[in-house]
Amino acid sequence: MKLLSVNAGSSSLKFTLFELPEKKELISGTFEKIGIGNSFYTIKLNGEKIKREVDLKDHGVAVNYLIEELTNNKIIDSLDDLDGIGHRVVHGGTYYNQSVIIDDKFMEVINSLIDLAPIHNPANITGIKAFRDALPNVPQIAVFDTAFHQTMEKTEYLYAVPYEWYEKYGVRKYGFHGTSHRYINKTISEYLGRDDLKVISCHLGNGSSLCAINAGKVVDTSMGFTPLTGLIMGTRSGDVDPSIIPFIMDKENKTCDQVLNDLNKKSGLLGISGVSSDSRDIEEGIENGNERCALANEMLCRKVANYIAMYNNMLGGADVITFTAGIGENSIDTRKRIIELVESLGVKLDAEKNDVRGKFTLISSDDSKIPVYVVPTNEELMIAMDTYELIK
Ligand code: ADP
Repeated sequence: MKLLSVNAGSSSLKFTLFELPEKKELISGTFEKIGIGNSFYTIKLNGEKIKREVDLKDHGVAVNYLIEELTNNKIIDSLDDLDGIGHRVVHGGTYYNQSVIIDDKFMEVINSLIDLAPIHNPANITGIKAFRDALPNVPQIAVFDTAFHQTMEKTEYLYAVPYEWYEKYGVRKYGFHGTSHRYINKTISEYLGRDDLKVISCHLGNGSSLCAINAGKVVDTSMGFTPLTGLIMGTRSGDVDPSIIPFIMDKENKTCDQVLNDLNKKSGLLGISGVSSDSRDIEEGIENGNERCALANEMLCRKVANYIAMYNNMLGGADVITFTAGIGENSIDTRKRIIELVESLGVKLDAEKNDVRGKFTLISSDDSKIPVYVVPTNEELMIAMDTYELIK
């Protein structure tokens, strides 16, 4: 089957076409600056990258270019060759605990959830509509960032705030990155041949979250009502005392939205280092003796380590720890430091094995109490695999 995996943002659209069940990637690409001028798209095909500057007035135009590229490059002969499309949808609220086929009812529900994800869900909906208009006969599937985390218990997903906030407005922890954590859990469970694994999955990228999984069920995760909480991220603060918000509003004469924007876009590695949100720049800063870069990275590592220790406790002892996403897969020093910081759990790194980027690898030593793996994530493939399962 030829299945397209789609991730639509407010001004971008990323896609990957897979052949399943072979899991073969046929073509991928990104449309950027949709509707804001100077738009273009890049396509990766047979190891080659092509860039074309085109006028992309809306997502519908991008979808038409995409279909044209698929046929021109003989990836498909006709639109009938496309078996299904899987869309990333950020927020499924409490309505969806797994991926679903998109129909009119779905569109209604997802519209009603815009309140909970005011930036992401409308963008995802725009993408879905563009594909439904262009390819009305191809089945489409929604894969949610939140769905995997729906197994959390009330003790974990509730905040200790007035209970009515939860009942009236759905104020609770939802968690995100679920598609990545689910892919990691599936990959490591299949590799080790077990379906009862207790996994601590560390997704460390621009956005970062940890997830404690017991036999395929999420016990807890570090992001919350929104992706702002939990770990220190590229530009997000992670956990902070909410009283800081009115305090800064007052001091800097800012609105609540402006302060929230600071917490989302100007905090984290960027906020502490004052240099960059990108861990490669932070690493370079550390090499050049920049103390604030060192401080930012140390704060990130300690936060991750403390969450690992907490999740190890919640799981009653983890069977495996995994690292994934941009930093988790590539930053050798960050992994090394995090593992040093959880030494009390009996976790030990093998420095030689840890000298690896972006490859599935066991990086702990033979006498480590908990084995540690680098497991590259692939959310696009997970979306295509869900699409395959739902329509085959
Ligand atoms: P997103 O959350 O946007 O999907 P990614 O998972 O791609 O982000 O992660 C981006 C982060 O990964 C950036 O901080 C980037 O610096 C980091 N990263 C990517 N490659 C490397 C590398 N070789 N060494 C260190 N960090 C890296």
